[in-house]
Amino acid sequence: MNFKNYSIREIHNLLVENKISVKNIIEEVIQQVEKDLKENFLITFTSEQAKKVANNFKFNKDKILSGIPYVNKDNVSTKDILTTAGSKILSNYIPPYDATVSKILNDNEAILLGKSALDELGMGGTGLFSFNGIVKNPFDNNRIIGGSSSGSAFAVCKGYVPFSIGTDTGDSIRKPASYVGIYGYKPTYGSISRYGVIPYAPSLDHVGFFTNHAEDLIYLANELFKYDPKDSTSIDNSKNYLDVFNTKNKKIRFGFLQEVWDILDDQLKNAYSKLFENLKKDNHEVEIFSFKKELLDAIPAMYMMISFAEGVSTSSNLDGINFGVRSEAENYQQLIKKTRTDSFNETVKRRFLLGSYQLKKENQELLLAKSKKVRRLVVDRINYFFKQFDIMILPPSLDVAPLISKVYGTDIEERYDDSKAFIHDLLILANLNGMPSITLPFIKDETTKLPIGINICSKPFTDDYLLSTTLYLEKLIKKAFK
Ligand code: GLN
Repeated sequence: MNFKNYSIREIHNLLVENKISVKNIIEEVIQQVEKDLKENFLITFTSEQAKKVANNFKFNKDKILSGIPYVNKDNVSTKDILTTAGSKILSNYIPPYDATVSKILNDNEAILLGKSALDELGMGGTGLFSFNGIVKNPFDNNRIIGGSSSGSAFAVCKGYVPFSIGTDTGDSIRKPASYVGIYGYKPTYGSISRYGVIPYAPSLDHVGFFTNHAEDLIYLANELFKYDPKDSTSIDNSKNYLDVFNTKNKKIRFGFLQEVWDILDDQLKNAYSKLFENLKKDNHEVEIFSFKKELLDAIPAMYMMISFAEGVSTSSNLDGINFGVRSEAENYQQLIKKTRTDSFNETVKRRFLLGSYQLKKENQELLLAKSKKVRRLVVDRINYFFKQFDIMILPPSLDVAPLISKVYGTDIEERYDDSKAFIHDLLILANLNGMPSITLPFIKDETTKLPIGINICSKPFTDDYLLSTTLYLEKLIKKAFK
């Protein structure tokens, strides 16, 4: 069974009608995954546990996720199952408790198939920096899959599972989704609890998921959005999301950023023009909006300041003292120093260094506080955008997934060289104000035949609106871009 061809609802119906069994699904998918384990997309393959659960499974027709296999990102805690966050320092860490999202999935009787690879601690966007090895683009081995939720994107793209869990601090769900032509959804900030999720930067971190079909996003939102008193940033964004299936689309006001339009190549300009024509034919509005170039240009630096400072602060417990891998040394200070030196990759170390620099007393006002002010200015501009529009359309990237040779050894701070640099980090807009944001499959590049996605965002707390727009766009894109 390849889950690319079946939505969660369809699998559920087949189970209800007894046309397939949970035991068979799990056995089959385990065989498929075994052949692909060398691709490093799983840090832990929970095949034994999954088999055990499937063998005695009592299918529950009232639970849409009952018996549905999934993959969880390895920075999400799973009780008694290794949880490494892609980092050597946690390569022996077995949490004594479940993250809230893992617990909800367990309660819903979904079956965990494995823990997926990520760029260490979520820091990165390539899939090249998980301690267990490189995760490559399944369509072209010379290219990245994107990250940091690399393994989760891989599993859904290959059709091994109908959905997987990811996290998104800058674009870690939505960028890889674009590179492999699947759906990636980062809901409104706080909709899914972060309790038990190993943080990168808490003011930007979101939990979300990948799927192969728009309708699956709706079922997952319906089950996973729950207020959680254990996470102080959790919000109650629960609703009957199934109502989205009955929503009639009224006139939607779509906005596209002028600064982005100015740098699109011909292929994307044509694709977007075609999309806009189709939207207008359906009586929707499409207008260009100038965001202000200097604000967009400030995003990468501001994101780095805020996320690196929060990152080094939240990761200060990773020191080999209480848990994780420990290097031997003569005294306490040296032990911490050696453990951290031995265990973290270069990206993480650089980010920690820059983060610490800003957290120095004399730099806090000068650098960190200033970044927060810039964040506020950008958020004000987003709010202004939504006074005139319902949906913001963003290209997740200007091109297909880059070649590994092009990006290896580079990181976000090296993107200052040209005036188009902001485009790489455009999706971060949605982490700054917490608005919901979904990447959908869009076009196939003419030369490489690789996918390039499209991203849409709406106002915070309007996830239902964004989901109904996604359903609509899925149909329209399939029809118009055959
Ligand atoms: N690619 C971005 C970074 O390098 C985003 C990472 C993320 O969302 N976790 O930080």
